[in-house]
Amino acid sequence: MTAVECVAQTAAEAVAVAAQRLKTAGFSNTLFESKQLVARCLGLAPAGLDLESARPWTSANEILLNVWLNQRTSRVPLAYVLGEWDFLHFTLTVTPDVLIPRPETEELFSLAVSSMKNEVTAVADVGTGAGGLALAAAGRWPSARVVALDVSSAALALARWNARRWGLEHQILFVQNDLISGDAEYDLVLANLPYVATSELNGLEPELAWEPRVALDGGVDGLAVVRRCVPLAWHALRPGGQLWLEVGRGQGEPTRALLRQAGFREVTLCPDFAGIQRFVGGTR
Ligand code: GLN
Repeated sequence: MTAVECVAQTAAEAVAVAAQRLKTAGFSNTLFESKQLVARCLGLAPAGLDLESARPWTSANEILLNVWLNQRTSRVPLAYVLGEWDFLHFTLTVTPDVLIPRPETEELFSLAVSSMKNEVTAVADVGTGAGGLALAAAGRWPSARVVALDVSSAALALARWNARRWGLEHQILFVQNDLISGDAEYDLVLANLPYVATSELNGLEPELAWEPRVALDGGVDGLAVVRRCVPLAWHALRPGGQLWLEVGRGQGEPTRALLRQAGFREVTLCPDFAGIQRFVGGTR
C-alpha cells in the first residue's frame, strides 16, 4: 500500500486546501465549512482550531477529509457529514433520520421561555426530531416532566440518544405519536412541525433532499400538520398553558387565525431575526 501524499502539512494548510476545493465546487461559506471539517478530522472543537493551526496533518487525516469533502460536494448537508450540530448549548448527534436543528427554532425556545411567567411542571415537544427543544426544556426547567413526541421511531431513538448524551434522559419521556394527545396535561407545548408546501419542496436547495420529508412536507399550503395539531394542543394544555409554534414565510397570520379558532386567547405573532413573522403563541 502506498501512503497517501498529503497536499497539506499542517492543519492551517488543510483548511486552505479544503476551502479551495469547496470554492471550486461552487460553495460560498467555504472557510467556515472547511474549518468545521478539519477540526472534526483532528478531534478538535472548531473554536480550538485557530490555536492548533500548526498541528501536523497526517495521511490518515487527509483520507478522512477527502471522504467528507466528497460527501459535501455531493450536497450532503454539512451537519450530516459531521454527524453533529449545535442547538443552543447542546451539541446533538444528527443523521438523515432527523431535521437539522435550525437557528429559528432556538429563537422559538427563547420566546417560549420569556413568555412563561408561572411555574412550568410539564412540557411537550411535538415533532421532537433530534430532541433539541425537549433537551432545552429539560435543562431550563429541571423539575419539569418533559414529553418528546415524534411520528418517527428512528427520530425518537436519536432524541433519546441525545438526551443520554446530555444526562437528561431521566427527565424526558419519549412517545411515538403522530402529534399529541391527552387532556389538560401540559403548561407548555412546543412544536416545530413540517410546514413547507409540497410544491415548494423540490425547488429548494439540493441539501434539503437529504432531510426527512416527513419533517418538512406540510401539504398543499404547508399548514396541513399545523392545522391538525392546534386543536389537539389546545386539549393537551392546562387552562393558562401556552402553545408555541414555528411556521414559514406568509404562514404567520393564517396560523394566528387557526389558534383563535381553536379557542386560544392572547394569540401573538413574533418575527424571527430575518423579520419573517415566524412564531405564533397562544394561551388556553
Ligand atoms: N425551516 C425549515 C426550512 O425552511 C423547515 C422546517 C420545518 O418544516 N419545520 O428548511
